[in-house]
Amino acid sequence: MLASKALESYRLKRDFSRTIEPSGGTAARKTAKPESLRFVVQKHAARRLHYDFRLELDGVLKSWAVTKGPSLCPGDKRLAVHVEDHPLEYAGFEGVIPQGEYGAGSVIVWDRGRWIPLTDPRKGYAKGHLTFSLRGEKLGGDWALVQMRPKPGGRADNWLLIKAADDAARAKSEPDILEEKRDSVLSGKPIEKIADNPSVRRWTRGQPVKSTDTFTPRQRAREPLASGKATVSRQEAAGKTTKKPLRIQFPKAARTARISGFVAPCLAAATAMPPAGRSFVHEVKFDGYRLQAVLERPSGHQDTSWS
Ligand code: MN
Repeated sequence: MLASKALESYRLKRDFSRTIEPSGGTAARKTAKPESLRFVVQKHAARRLHYDFRLELDGVLKSWAVTKGPSLCPGDKRLAVHVEDHPLEYAGFEGVIPQGEYGAGSVIVWDRGRWIPLTDPRKGYAKGHLTFSLRGEKLGGDWALVQMRPKPGGRADNWLLIKAADDAARAKSEPDILEEKRDSVLSGKPIEKIADNPSVRRWTRGQPVKSTDTFTPRQRAREPLASGKATVSRQEAAGKTTKKPLRIQFPKAARTARISGFVAPCLAAATAMPPAGRSFVHEVKFDGYRLQAVLERPSGHQDTSWS
């Protein structure tokens, strides 16, 4: 599968105007030599702390959310929930996913290195049985990722991450690697400190709108299109609600008329370049639902709002 196609689900879940996670638009390597395949384990303090285990394959990071994190004890079978492919650039991602966004919370690179498949990785991935060696800064030795047979009608996302018995394995009586080496291999910081780190890139609310030709959706709802340029306050740019009641202003050329049933909403169309000229406004395409609401007053006067 093409890496761009494989990342569709990843992109649909995220709003890249809000999160600083990579969109995966660039550096897709299609064929990496088996000995240079990357792996990364990201510690992710989302609603529940978990460890995201990612293996490079065919230009993307195959990904599993390991709820309890990897264990070096061969007796431990750690639940690894298969999730959407992530772009390769994600392997270097450390930072804060803002509140309200998918996976909100802090992320650190807990371990990284190379993974070496012990059997054909594509066949293994397809049939739900991967065996491999890890050459990381914390994790090493041989491992298996095994898909659990789903219950009838159940989901096939559940895999198990299991350490093989070898020199890199530990006994239950030995320290837990998750406790022994808790912090980031990139910054050396604990996950609790990642939000305070000034060098961590972070999306902040209230970023000023740069181009005067760019209208925020909120501004569009308020400003008559005919009035042309208008400055946007930081609050408005951030889409913050004010106490003032929302007053809808219609474009000057608009006429009041009866609504005749359903009106098909405009849909976005894919083009190579946005149309030029001042009669067009551009906005970020937010995926979601389009809502059409009509409020009809007894007098027959209608208010229409779009979202
Ligand atoms: Mn995660």
